[in-house]
Amino acid sequence: MPTGACGINCDVCRLNLLGICSTCGSGRSVDGKKKAAAQQRILGAPCPILACSMDKAIDYCPRDCNSFPCDRFKNGPYPFSRGFLNMQARRRTETPSLKNPSGDEVDVPIEHWEGLLRRDQKIICQNALVVHDSLGFFLLPFLKEYIRVDLKEYCLYHQKHGGWEIFHNPLLELVCLVYLLHAGPQGMSGRMAGPHELKAGHFFKGPHELKTQPLVERYGFDIKGFKKAAENLGGEALDMADAAYRFEAFPKIPLYYLLWEGDVEFQARLSVLFDHSIEHHLTVDAIWGLVALVSDLLLVGGHF
Ligand code: SF4
Ligand code: SF4
Repeated sequence: MPTGACGINCDVCRLNLLGICSTCGSGRSVDGKKKAAAQQRILGAPCPILACSMDKAIDYCPRDCNSFPCDRFKNGPYPFSRGFLNMQARRRTETPSLKNPSGDEVDVPIEHWEGLLRRDQKIICQNALVVHDSLGFFLLPFLKEYIRVDLKEYCLYHQKHGGWEIFHNPLLELVCLVYLLHAGPQGMSGRMAGPHELKAGHFFKGPHELKTQPLVERYGFDIKGFKKAAENLGGEALDMADAAYRFEAFPKIPLYYLLWEGDVEFQARLSVLFDHSIEHHLTVDAIWGLVALVSDLLLVGGHF
């Protein structure tokens, strides 16, 4: 598919169909290399966007680069307007994963907060393997970060710029509360299980299928990019599939992401596995939500 590193799609351009302009390509493609060489020959220099994406070994700036839209886009004469670039810069700060499987906004029932307040705090700490910090907040490890859970103000905080900042993400809030409320005394089994091997495995069908397809599209032919994102997110590499990582989502909830790279014969594939004990600690919809959160973090390169 001849899409340029900038995101322009030559497939739908008349100049390309008429042979007036040659196909561009992604920063890791043969088409991209050929285009850069032709530009060097004809214009004396390659397109700075294409050259930069080749240096960084990324395919498409808007999808793969956390610096998009960088100054090469903002200061260059093309390909996108200032209005489009401003919209991209603004919307890329929005929080993804705010929808439930039915496509509705995630709603955090107040009863979850009230339920937590009524529960024996010591038992919660023992079961969920969390502690209270010096100010009395629950300190809940989430991936490589800590989330502070404030039972007085009903909100979450995360660490930013050396301090704690309110963190508004309803899906994360819901999943954290469900974990604290539901984590049982059982330990981990050490046995991996796919979603369909769980007791409530029938849930993960149709609209409730785990959110993995966007990861296949992004990393199915970019194992290096997947490894980088997984390591940024604190994943532990495993000797499985073409690339596999274990993420400590919550203290009793490891998630395993296994990726098989695609080629001319086989489609890329990604599986998410759990510890078999996961249903003792999370409800099925919270499992779905947790995978959606972690998958979205991997899609943005593993950065919070
Ligand atoms: S702006 Fe650069 S990367 Fe985009 S299509 Fe043109 S040459 Fe290719
Ligand atoms: S820095 Fe700019 S040109 Fe380079 S890869 Fe990122 S978005 Fe593309």
